[in-house]
Amino acid sequence: MITIIGGGPIGGYSAALLSKHNDVTIYEEKKEVGLPIQCTGILSDTINKIIPIKKDFVANKIYSARIYAPNKRFIEINLKKPNIIIYRNKFDQHLCDKATKNGAKIFYSHRFIKKNEVLDMNTRKKKRINHDAIIGADGPLSKVSQVYGLGKRKYLKGVQALIKKKNDNTVDFYPYIGTYAWAVPESQDVLRVGVAAEKNTMKTFKDFSKMYKGKVLGWQGGLIPIHNPRLQTSKKNIYLIGDAAAQIKNTTGGGLIPGLMAVEELRESIDEHKDYEKLWRKRIGKNLWTHYVVRKMMNKFNEKDWNKLVSIFNKKSMKNILAKESRDEPIKILTKVLLRNSSILMFLKKLF
Ligand SMILES: Cc1cc2nc3c(=O)[nH]c(=O)nc-3n(C[C@H](O)[C@H](O)[C@H](O)COP(=O)(O)OP(=O)(O)OC[C@H]3O[C@@H](n4cnc5c(N)ncnc54)[C@H](O)[C@@H]3O)c2cc1C
Repeated sequence: MITIIGGGPIGGYSAALLSKHNDVTIYEEKKEVGLPIQCTGILSDTINKIIPIKKDFVANKIYSARIYAPNKRFIEINLKKPNIIIYRNKFDQHLCDKATKNGAKIFYSHRFIKKNEVLDMNTRKKKRINHDAIIGADGPLSKVSQVYGLGKRKYLKGVQALIKKKNDNTVDFYPYIGTYAWAVPESQDVLRVGVAAEKNTMKTFKDFSKMYKGKVLGWQGGLIPIHNPRLQTSKKNIYLIGDAAAQIKNTTGGGLIPGLMAVEELRESIDEHKDYEKLWRKRIGKNLWTHYVVRKMMNKFNEKDWNKLVSIFNKKSMKNILAKESRDEPIKILTKVLLRNSSILMFLKKLF
């Protein structure tokens, strides 16, 4: 019997895969899946290797991106394979539907509060839960991690507004504003504009969003955990996954693809009695480590560094690499970039 805490995308996908061979129950504290939305929902083409994309949850497809420097110059990339923009509530629902179809049970309005106990938030009654394994898919503030002594993680605060604004269907990314900032087209008329930062997120957002003036249709926000390769993610029959395990790309805040990949490794480790830590780290550990180191270096950049980096990447051969390779495979990108232009190595000194 497996208990999953959290019915977000990672809890839902875990239940979908594990319920094929196990008795699985999800406890989700919200009263429905996927709301409120706390995500931009942009995915690289790598998603196609994990989950078949369905029209029902796709909002848009994007074929180009601009990455800006403080001097307003930018790298314009024509993506070889489009990025997909999803409606997160529909995506999460799709995964939970898969789980229930495979036999998993979901209890909404049930909050995990302590070892073997959940609170029914409607009746305010506490319920005992029994299981052979517990999976913490309960996001950046993971209670499962706290209760079982797997530690806390650091995080960024993200703020996003849906802004009515005609656009040219191109993602704008600002890796130097806050920790990073973005404007992602949900459609021809609506942008998802946001900032993630360690502090002063709202103030940074207010200044940044002046570039994208338009009617605000809605506000979203949430915490983005910071990946740390040293974080422990399991202990006996307790497993952390997704944001609870900080399985996220520190350069962009993308957590869906790494989290979903980790789920496939968790399924194998439970069904085939293998070591979860080893499996997920083998599949995504090196790539997440690369994002971790690159972000660490970028945190020390000044305006001149950003301007220089963008000018280096503005060469056709360098842009071709960004156009072709997925950001979910940064090692491939870095290797190709270094072979083309070793001057990029000068930024490494920022790490020391
Ligand atoms: C502003 C913003 C923009 C983002 N944009 C992107 C993006 O464009 N692309 C991308 O890949 N990633 C993005 N992310 C990250 C992405 O949203 C996360 O990586 C993803 O949601 C992780 O899924 P999860 O299931 O691990 O956690 P969550 O989605 O946080 O789900 C955890 C679930 O657990 C439930 N829960 C929590 N505590 C308890 C408890 N005690 N008991 C019961 N249930 C509990 C919560 O209600 C929630 O439903 C963004 C994040 C933010 C904040």
